[in-house]
Amino acid sequence: MKTKEVTDLYGKYVVPTYTQSPLVLVRGKGLMVWDIEGKQYLDFFPGWAVSGLGHCHPMVVNAVKDQCKRMIHISNNYYNHLQAKLAGVISKSSFGGKVFFCNSGAEANEAAIKFARIYGGSGRFEIITMKNSFHGRTLATVAATGQDKIKKGFDPLPEGFKHAPFNDFEAVKNAVTDKTTAIMLEPIQGEGGINIASKDYMFSLKQLCNEKNLLLIFDEVQTGMGRTGEMFCYQHYGVIPDIMTLAKSLGGGVPIGAMAVRADIAHTLKAGSHASTFGGSPLVCRAALAVFKAIEKDRLLNNVNLISKYLFDRLDNLREKYGIIKEIRGLGLMIGVELREECKPLAEECVKRGLLINCTQGNVLRLMPPLIVSKKHVDKALSILDKALEFLPKTSYKQEQ
Ligand code: PLP
Repeated sequence: MKTKEVTDLYGKYVVPTYTQSPLVLVRGKGLMVWDIEGKQYLDFFPGWAVSGLGHCHPMVVNAVKDQCKRMIHISNNYYNHLQAKLAGVISKSSFGGKVFFCNSGAEANEAAIKFARIYGGSGRFEIITMKNSFHGRTLATVAATGQDKIKKGFDPLPEGFKHAPFNDFEAVKNAVTDKTTAIMLEPIQGEGGINIASKDYMFSLKQLCNEKNLLLIFDEVQTGMGRTGEMFCYQHYGVIPDIMTLAKSLGGGVPIGAMAVRADIAHTLKAGSHASTFGGSPLVCRAALAVFKAIEKDRLLNNVNLISKYLFDRLDNLREKYGIIKEIRGLGLMIGVELREECKPLAEECVKRGLLINCTQGNVLRLMPPLIVSKKHVDKALSILDKALEFLPKTSYKQEQ
């Protein structure tokens, strides 16, 4: 098939919920992907942060292949040793909690929201979330999300969510009432434009939660699984949540979500109170176990920290060269390059030149290369970005030499 045939089929048969580039991707290996016409691209935003180990990591591929021959799915009314093992690995690599499995980030957050409501008991149901946050596309996670454009047209949304400005502790404190049951946030807002929670803010939120018996929920759907240089982003802060949600790169490409919750309160959800037919199947758990193993075996957290420094330095050189770059921020391999104007033309120019990157919030280029990225990949990506910046018709921001 050719690109045009595929896009025509989409036009006829696929509900048009996505803004799409006219690229049909058919094969991936590591940081490289190929389109249906055989053109190669360097992928610095693989699978919207799902392919954290790059495309088709051999350990994930082998695990999935082997598991397909043994058992793909069983009902959660029976035990599954891979789910048990994976829950143990998540628990031991985080805060010793218990885990509920589902299939996506939104579902992991739904589970956290339902947990917080039951935990709150009668009368306590409000959850404070942050402006510019993103928690998913189900009705409750849309309500939790702090961006109006995500909510538009879907009223009435579930009640019980209040939004405070990110990194503004006083605003959160003032929003707490006797109906509040939890505070929920991303340690680094991803869709919101790579906004990093400050240490003071995180500490103060934890203290507030302790004082008022509120649950502190960290949405680590995007920041988790080594992305920021620690296995989970909260580990940079030394602030331990009561609940953490995961998805995206947890499965190395297969759909899996998880909610980890403090062990001593895990019994709040009882048999029959929440469920997922597909959640934690042998297949996806086997893949996720392979992801944890690969991160450990290949010392990928070290690689994230090493390459992060290199990438930030190289980006800084570009910032000095091109006035269009306003700020570079992020942690590990979760990086935002804020421009003084729209980033879409630049992202599109990069695609034409063989580099896939993302543009969020209108003017923030988002780079999230997989944890296996090397200096060579960075050199290649940044040379494409450099040329694309040079090529862009808007020269007004190029600094005088
Ligand atoms: N939470 C965060 C922080 C996310 O970035 C996303 C997706 O981008 C979600 C939740 C929703 O995840 P999913 O698309 O798997 O439902």
